Amino acid sequence: MSLLDNRASVLALRHRYDAAAAILPEVADMVSVERPAEPMHCLRPAAVSAASRDFASAFPGTTLYAVKCNPEPAVLRAVWEGGVRHFDCASEPEIALVRGMFPEATIHFMHPVKARGAIRAAWSRHDVRDFVLDHPDELAKILTETEASAAEGLGLFVRLALPKGSAAYDLSGKFGAEPDVAAELLALARPHAARLGICFHVGSQMLDPLAWRRALKLAGEVVARSGVIVDVVDVGGGFPARYPGDEVPPLGAFFAEIEMGLEDAGLANAELWAEPGRALVATGTSVVVQVQLRRGNALFINDGVYGSLSDAGAPGFIYPTRLLRPDAPASDSPEEGFIFFGPTCDSADRMAGPFLLPNDVEEGDWIEIGQLGAYGACLRTGFNGFDRARVVEVRDAPLMRG
Ligand SMILES: *Cc1c(COP(=O)(O)O)cnc(C)c1O
Repeated sequence: MSLLDNRASVLALRHRYDAAAAILPEVADMVSVERPAEPMHCLRPAAVSAASRDFASAFPGTTLYAVKCNPEPAVLRAVWEGGVRHFDCASEPEIALVRGMFPEATIHFMHPVKARGAIRAAWSRHDVRDFVLDHPDELAKILTETEASAAEGLGLFVRLALPKGSAAYDLSGKFGAEPDVAAELLALARPHAARLGICFHVGSQMLDPLAWRRALKLAGEVVARSGVIVDVVDVGGGFPARYPGDEVPPLGAFFAEIEMGLEDAGLANAELWAEPGRALVATGTSVVVQVQLRRGNALFINDGVYGSLSDAGAPGFIYPTRLLRPDAPASDSPEEGFIFFGPTCDSADRMAGPFLLPNDVEEGDWIEIGQLGAYGACLRTGFNGFDRARVVEVRDAPLMRG
């Protein structure tokens, strides 16, 4: 099954280029030739590979790519090109997609609440060995459905809940065991596990490296309370990408806190894993939209919060923008902040920005919106009939660097 079946369609504008990056088109050429009336996703495989390579080579452990962040096959190929061989999947379709593309990948089933059939298929059909849990009933489900034991290489990971932090997205409200329960789960799981791990997620787009230090301190206390040894510490995702206005510390600052945190927590002997999503793929995609009406400082565009711009809605993400006017010289008008309205009839389809553009922007202009590789295209819906978009691979540099 393809993930394409589950979302609004994003069709390839060209067949995949097997060509060297140098002969991929540029965004401006594509706009000039295609004059796209639907959102055009511009994928930069080289940027994804570079970000993946940078992360995986600097991280002092094993890097798993969190597939949900962007499951586009061309993106998965670029992550693989960057040297990542482990994939964090959350559903059977994600697992089947990765297994179909990369028979040699190591796939980890990191969703704490899984369908029984998905556990069975993962274990017996897709060669998945690692499963996450945050409740004793989920442990029982995993043991029943896999009929596996430590001798067969079963890996069990206990997801720890963290106190609410300062991330753009808090991910402990739904998943994770409280510390006392997590300690019990580690002890319960230990006899069944060839690989026992503790994992957590500090929240997505986490700008504070100390969040990992604090989480590791708690993980160390939980492991000590459990009375068992853990083989793996998985520090999750949450590593930030750059968006206009954000002060993003360099990756090394995060990795340094993680190494010190492991040392302080008495966990330095465990294997270290991370599950980045956003940090690997955010720079890798932009979306070209067209202006359909200008009303003062509001631009009505053909993509919005029900399309690939959902994080520009209520979460208030700001993205870098540039004006594309294929038949005219570059605008030399001064820049101003604009708000965007998406194409659906819902008044929630509003993106406050501000998005900076030359102040002579008008109906018919195209706008390239950058840093949309993470949680962009994969969140599109078909609401109100605005279900079409196209994807093309390009050779441009990202609008912003990592
Ligand atoms: C979403 C998710 C990730 C990736 O998070 P980012 O903030 O994109 O790095 C990693 N692990 C789990 C379990 C997740 O749910």
